[in-house]
Amino acid sequence: MKEMNPFKTVQRQLDKAAEALDLEESIHQALRKPMRTFIVNFQVKMDDGSSKTFKGYRVQYNDALGPTKGGLRFHPNETLDTVKALAAWMTWKTAVADIPYGGGKGGVVCSPNQLSEREMERVSRSYICAISDYIGPDKDIPAPDVYTTSQTMAWMMDEFSKIKGVNAPGVITGKPVEVGGSLGRGDATARGVIYTIREAANKLNRSLDQATIAVQGYGNVGSYVHKLMEEQLGAKVVAIGDEEGAIYSEDGICYSKVKDNMKAHGVFSKEMEGVEYLGDIEEGNKKLLELDVDILIPAAIENVLTQENADEVKADIIAEAANGPTTPEADDILNQKGIYIIPDFLCNAGGVTVSYFEWVQNRNRYYWSEAEVYERLDKKMTKAFADVHNRAQEEGVDNRTAAYMVSIEKLARAMELRGWV
Ligand code: NAD
Repeated sequence: MKEMNPFKTVQRQLDKAAEALDLEESIHQALRKPMRTFIVNFQVKMDDGSSKTFKGYRVQYNDALGPTKGGLRFHPNETLDTVKALAAWMTWKTAVADIPYGGGKGGVVCSPNQLSEREMERVSRSYICAISDYIGPDKDIPAPDVYTTSQTMAWMMDEFSKIKGVNAPGVITGKPVEVGGSLGRGDATARGVIYTIREAANKLNRSLDQATIAVQGYGNVGSYVHKLMEEQLGAKVVAIGDEEGAIYSEDGICYSKVKDNMKAHGVFSKEMEGVEYLGDIEEGNKKLLELDVDILIPAAIENVLTQENADEVKADIIAEAANGPTTPEADDILNQKGIYIIPDFLCNAGGVTVSYFEWVQNRNRYYWSEAEVYERLDKKMTKAFADVHNRAQEEGVDNRTAAYMVSIEKLARAMELRGWV
């Protein structure tokens, strides 16, 4: 399979929306590239006394609507183009969710599983030190992403506060609750996903009771999606998959059984009783994506729905919990098949929404109950979903293009009002 550059995907999606909007060319060109890109190389003392140089990125894609916001990945294969793509998606995401932020993203090229905890702390602190002049509660606000955790955020917040000589919880979100994190952040993305699925089912006049679901990816997002689909919507998750493979049960896979099994065996895929093992990462996930289910939820990585498998997808609704799971070619095929797609930057906007709530609480130094967080999240996601769905109906375009239209229009207006174009 040919390597797909996610930034090219972003640009192609944007071009399609720009055409549908008849977007002014100067705005279109401004949105095709990030405003600011930082590449930093910094030294870290390793446990054995040696010193190692690490490379870090921070991309501030567009800040017309507010300070830039987006996660930090620690990954050995991190590339500038991936960070740029994710920063662009963050820009559209905050705009569509109506959050007063721009979009950003960052990362450090490293292998977290080869670093000790103390080394992870030093990498985290050194990275923040290297970019400390470019971030801040009113400039650019990072958050956790792949292989970074609430502990990483706590170290980073502490380092930034020390450098600036202030107590600045609002510089970063996704912190532990004890140091300014928000209640309800843990499952916020998954909660947002299920709110959009609930709304889609309403619009399509479909019941979710016993609806069949396949979930690819069983991390932060996928596992909570499973739990909440079962608990809150009464749906039946019949297949789940991760890097170990995929499993299926016509009668539904119970969330608590998976959790118990994971505790006992570490991985769930091959060891669970009463389920069919669909195969390893390649075979199992291929079968999972092509299952005859009501709703397919890709919640793992980019580019899993491609022109090779899109025609085989049988689900009626695809809820893109992951970022960029569908290539532009696959998108065309899925739309032609009439599949209802909830596009990624709408579907998974719950995480950044609660991150925003965290920042608001940090600034006011006044903290909300979990119920209050969920209620506000539901309102934001429901409104964002309605904006996109209605726009798609009005314009006769697919949901992704409609989501771009909603967000690009807001960005364009802000850029005009600020006098940039
Ligand atoms: P995670 O690292 O916690 O989990 C990823 C899961 O995907 C794991 O179960 C892993 O085994 C599985 N996986 C990885 N490669 C796979 C492959 N080739 N085939 C099948 N499964 C594979 O990550 P996460 O935080 O759950 O994020 C998942 C997706 O959701 C990513 O695209 C991420 O960018 C997006 N997302 C996450 C959040 C958030 O709040 N965590 C917010 C918005 C978007």
